[in-house]
Amino acid sequence: MLGFMKKLTGDKQTKQLNTYYKKVQQINKLEPEMEKLTDEQLKAKTTYFKEQLEKGKTIQDLQIEAFAVVREAAKRVVGMRHFDVQLIGGMVLSEGNIAEMPTGEGKTLVASLSSYLRALEGKGVHVITVNDYLASRDRELIGGIHEFLGLTVGLNLPMMDQNQKKAAYQADITYGVGNEFGFDHLRDHMAYDPNQRVQRPYHYAIIDEADSVLVDEAKTPLIIAGKTGVSNELSYLCARVIKTFKEDEDFVFDPETKSTNFTDDGIAKIERGFDIDNLYDLEHQTLYHYVIQALRAHIMFERDVDYIVKEGKVLLVDAFTGRTMEGRSLSNGLHQAIEAKEGLELTEENKTQASITIQNYFRLYPVLSGMTGTAKTEEKEFQEIYSMNVIQIPTNRPIMRKDLPDQIFDTIDHKYKAVAKKVKELNAKGQPVLIGTTSILQSEKVADYLREHHLTFEVLNAKTVEQEVQLISIAGQKGRITVATNMAGRGTDIMLGEGVAELGGLYVIGTERNESRRIDNQLKGRSGRQGDPGVSEFFISLEDDLIRRFAREEAEKLKKKLKLDAEGRILNDKIIEFFDRTQRICEGSGYAIREYNIKLDDVLNMQRSTVYELRTRILEGRDLVPLIKTAVESFVKSEIEMTCSEEIIPEKWDTKQLVGNLSEVLPGGELSEIVGLMDQNKISGIVTAELEDYFTRLDKITENPQVLAAFPRYILSAVDHHWLAHLEAMERLKEGIGLRSYSQEDPMRQYGREGYALFTDMYHKIEREIGRQCAGIVRAIENQIGRA
Ligand code: ADP
Repeated sequence: MLGFMKKLTGDKQTKQLNTYYKKVQQINKLEPEMEKLTDEQLKAKTTYFKEQLEKGKTIQDLQIEAFAVVREAAKRVVGMRHFDVQLIGGMVLSEGNIAEMPTGEGKTLVASLSSYLRALEGKGVHVITVNDYLASRDRELIGGIHEFLGLTVGLNLPMMDQNQKKAAYQADITYGVGNEFGFDHLRDHMAYDPNQRVQRPYHYAIIDEADSVLVDEAKTPLIIAGKTGVSNELSYLCARVIKTFKEDEDFVFDPETKSTNFTDDGIAKIERGFDIDNLYDLEHQTLYHYVIQALRAHIMFERDVDYIVKEGKVLLVDAFTGRTMEGRSLSNGLHQAIEAKEGLELTEENKTQASITIQNYFRLYPVLSGMTGTAKTEEKEFQEIYSMNVIQIPTNRPIMRKDLPDQIFDTIDHKYKAVAKKVKELNAKGQPVLIGTTSILQSEKVADYLREHHLTFEVLNAKTVEQEVQLISIAGQKGRITVATNMAGRGTDIMLGEGVAELGGLYVIGTERNESRRIDNQLKGRSGRQGDPGVSEFFISLEDDLIRRFAREEAEKLKKKLKLDAEGRILNDKIIEFFDRTQRICEGSGYAIREYNIKLDDVLNMQRSTVYELRTRILEGRDLVPLIKTAVESFVKSEIEMTCSEEIIPEKWDTKQLVGNLSEVLPGGELSEIVGLMDQNKISGIVTAELEDYFTRLDKITENPQVLAAFPRYILSAVDHHWLAHLEAMERLKEGIGLRSYSQEDPMRQYGREGYALFTDMYHKIEREIGRQCAGIVRAIENQIGRA
């Protein structure tokens, strides 16, 4: 009865799963038939499917048979038979949703299904992994299945040259890291020759570890930068001034949003120091830029935590892995500000030439899908930003892992002592332990406490990806103690060593609640794969970072009424609810920041797609002459409108200037009659006649394909020049909006409005430049003809 009721009220997830299970049955039914096929016959299915699509069948029509074919091929090529739940995962991916499957469920194999299905359409499938190592591994393993079935498979790596990349993108299925695909997108839109481009139009992508790619790593946009000079003197000067600044007096720092700004006193100090009246004046924009970067460098970047200084250079440190990030630098003068703070020689500044956020890159795909062990908690975000739903796939075997309630302490010291004690206990009986931390700093701290107990352990700080993978993969062996940040070796399977299952499996210890439950779940999921036994337990304290950032005052109050045991364990009931609540606040704050950044980027994103579309049209020489005509016409029209503005009396119209501007884009035009005219219609009439004459000549000249081929280069450089200047202007505008939050208007709206105005202005300049460049070419050719 209860089951019936549940069905009636429509437990959506159950209903959905039932539909999937029906399809699974159909796939299973096809198995005997598939087994009878020879390798050749199985391969021939690919051609057959493609024909079916051409005849009007859809992907959905083919799904069941296609999945049966891939399963059979996998059995023959890699000796693995897709579990039923893996088939379901494949269905979710084909639909463009996120398949949530815990670690060890075999997501790599799941991707083989939908990548095959969607590749049949012949428009390319991108399979995104979190690092190059996994991309190569999956390309070999799963790619083998696809090649067996007659598809081509490619690998996209950063160091590849253009031809290698082109080949990789031409393949039916292409593996690689998300960033690299995004960079290729940007580079393709900087090309001056259509053959320099490597990508095809986007079709379908599968993102492995989707939450990591789309949420965690999506904080920093992809930037392609060129070199420009900076003012060294000003950088040093600002660094010196800022050194004397005090928190809450001269500036405020908000640890929650990790943002900083000057107080009125701070501003006054700067104005006095540089002997200016008003830092907010437009003419002091540059100075403002340098001082705010100096302030950020001063308080948001800590030496030996966020960066190290080595051989006179600032090397950034990845907080998750502890590895220095070779070749990475902060953009927009921030890197130089840190160099100035350390008194180092300044490197040249990287100036943005093209940039896109990971979010907006992946939104370019008509169909996007993802897999991960942890997505449900962020479902709203996936829905709102990517229109993807999160479907939780049942595990192949029931999860046996025990997730114990958190152990909560008053101080960090008590917490780590308890961790070490616990580890010692477990180690005495040989049970392997994995201790997850939130940063390399915390890993070191844990290590200190373990040392006190003379334990032998492995800390995964500052290791290469390969070392990490290797060390994580053996973390389930008897007697191992491994300390690692949550990100280390993600995607690596931890198999249990001999006799470990009997000891209770891998024991995972969390040392802090993470920024989101999702990341806690990732850590728990390291244990208990494929029905293995396992335990997870979190040790947390009132002094943890999360509490300090989001509930400092409340924690202080709580401290006064604590009931503790001898080891500092908090015995008050409901204390756990305090931690749960704080974590939710943190999750909300993280989402709000990402949402804010996306909204900001949306303004630029629309502009970028307009300019990129224009650029592509020019590059491919599609309808070039009409494009030029439209640009010239539009420029001319707005010039006339601006001159003959209703706000100016006709006697004051600057018709001389107008003639000057118009003749730049109208070669040989006879415009002098306009001077002194006070009737807009008359002016327009004269100009229109001149335009017609010019366009006739242009048509004639461009009949020669060789002549026509000369145009794109010039026009492109016009577009790029103004677009780059615009990017910088937008960057400054963005910096400014935080500053102007004093004013009445919602800063986001203000940014949108002013950004739009800047864009219209830039577009006008591009049109003018297109007109000028073309006029130049026409003049040159007419002169040649005239002389001949
Ligand atoms: P996940 O990424 O979901 O954590 P992996 O793709 O790394 O999991 O796979 C985990 C392990 O399970 C791998 O060793 C893989 O070869 C194995 N595996 C996956 N699917 C199957 C299957 N259907 N049959 C047998 N082994 C499988």
